[in-house]
Amino acid sequence: ATEAETRDLVIIGGGVAGYVAAIKAGQEGMKVTCIEKRGTLGGTCLNVGCIPSKSLLNNSHLYHQILHDSKHRGIEVGDVKLNLKQLMKAKEQSVSGLTKGVEFLFKKNGVEYLKGSGSFQDEHTVKVQLNDGGETSVKGKNILIATGSEASPFPGLEIDEKRVISSTGAIALEEVPKKLTVIGGGIIGLEMASVWSRLGSEVTVVEFLDQIGGPGMDTEIAKNIQKILKKQGIKFKTGTKVVNGEKGSDSVRLNVDSAKGGKPESLDADVVLVAIGRRPYTQGLGLENIGLELDERGRVIIDQEYRTKIPHIRCVGDVTFGPMLAHKAEEEAVAAIEYIKKGYGHVNYGCIPSVMYTFPEVAWVGQSEQDLKKAGVNYRVGTFPFSANSRAKTNLDTEGLVKMLADAETDRLLGIHIIGPNAGEMIAEGTLALEYGASSEDIARTCHAHPTLAEAFKEAAMATYSKPIHF
Ligand code: FAD
Ligand code: NAD
Repeated sequence: ATEAETRDLVIIGGGVAGYVAAIKAGQEGMKVTCIEKRGTLGGTCLNVGCIPSKSLLNNSHLYHQILHDSKHRGIEVGDVKLNLKQLMKAKEQSVSGLTKGVEFLFKKNGVEYLKGSGSFQDEHTVKVQLNDGGETSVKGKNILIATGSEASPFPGLEIDEKRVISSTGAIALEEVPKKLTVIGGGIIGLEMASVWSRLGSEVTVVEFLDQIGGPGMDTEIAKNIQKILKKQGIKFKTGTKVVNGEKGSDSVRLNVDSAKGGKPESLDADVVLVAIGRRPYTQGLGLENIGLELDERGRVIIDQEYRTKIPHIRCVGDVTFGPMLAHKAEEEAVAAIEYIKKGYGHVNYGCIPSVMYTFPEVAWVGQSEQDLKKAGVNYRVGTFPFSANSRAKTNLDTEGLVKMLADAETDRLLGIHIIGPNAGEMIAEGTLALEYGASSEDIARTCHAHPTLAEAFKEAAMATYSKPIHF
């Protein structure tokens, strides 16, 4: 676009929120420009988040399984070696394949892609500091802020991505640390603890709260997965607060204390991962030039149609309210474009699944037992363990369970929580059920193929209003 041309939509940020909005807007026939400073599209998720972490989780799981879980299956292998460089290469291949794929989709849908950093000059104009040098500006009838988030720092412990690392360093270590301490037992902490523990690190996770898993995980499920991960060799210090840390020349010391006050202790490690949450990213965006304010947690304030107080400037993804998840960003991006184009859009925030890609995986959608208790809802619980599921037994992977929560009077499903090898896939059925307002009996009366893990899902539904057959 020339500087004089006004675009239908200018998007700042080419992460999941920004790129999905760009493609959707292109499909709707809008003239759209997307500004991204990283040099590649896909944002945190494709470049340093969801995708590289899942590559490492998948391949470290295979490595660990070959080493420790193959002999009793009748598979004897000799001389198994870790080639960390190749493991990282495989990760990079997945990342570059996907980020280039998004670039292709931009071309296919006529999206203009500007590599540079965008900053508001006025309510319709975004100045772009181009990565290759120089500056340009674009005008938009509509502007979408999709600048995402960054790792929250731990005060006093500077992240150098070598000894003190964020998730970005954790997916790119050049050698397996002998000792790794993780601050924060949320999703990033547990996924990365799994990767490096499988590859040979001695991993300790320090979590402030009494339960791991981060916000939203059902307490019973959190206790359960903690036991499973402990058996895999990960050490946990829950109810423990990191007071401060000191970086030595080749090690890092953390001083920790019981969260309720108690006995101080020191933990030494080769590498410390800071995984205490993420915060919205609006640095250099020039929000002050257009008078847009942030809330107390740094989030861009929006209404239900994703509008800021300047109605033609909208905002979606990690930089605003709600869970910091790629699929949430994607739903919002589509809805925001629909609002611009058609005047209506829809995201059901009660129906956004969460998946933790440990082994076994943990997945959930809807409310937890603690949520329901707090809200004073009268509910029933149905569970079914994978140890009673024929496919899980056949696969010799019997850890975990399906747990369903349904309204005691109406039987309407309120929450579904799974620990299991394919929980992340299985939760899609639960999400669909919740979205359609299904009862547990609806699921129990739906035929599920045999032998599949999904039968555990059906039997947990049976257990919610009646009795399961196999347990
Ligand atoms: P981002 O992906 O952060 O994208 C924002 C983009 O905007 C960035 O590329 C940034 O460079 C660019 N930008 C910022 N400011 C400007 C500017 N002024 N000008 C130009 N460009 C700018 N979520 C899941 O759902 N599943 C997972 O498995 C998962 N795994 C994760 C693993 C890790 C290690 C991490 C860190 C996160 C993970 N997430 C996962 C979360 C997920 O990555 C985010 O929810 C998602 O990326 C949010 O998308 P977004 O577009 O809002 O922001
Ligand atoms: P989180 O909020 O999930 O977990 C952070 C944990 O750190 C919490 O349990 C918190 O109690 C703990 N904590 C905070 N301060 C502490 C301290 N001083 N000492 C000890 N513990 C402390 O955040 P995260 O794990 O960093 O993840 C960030 C975001 O990225 C989340 O929104 C998450 O959903 C998203 N993410 C998602 C996936 C996925 O969907 N599979 C994967 C990775 C990241």
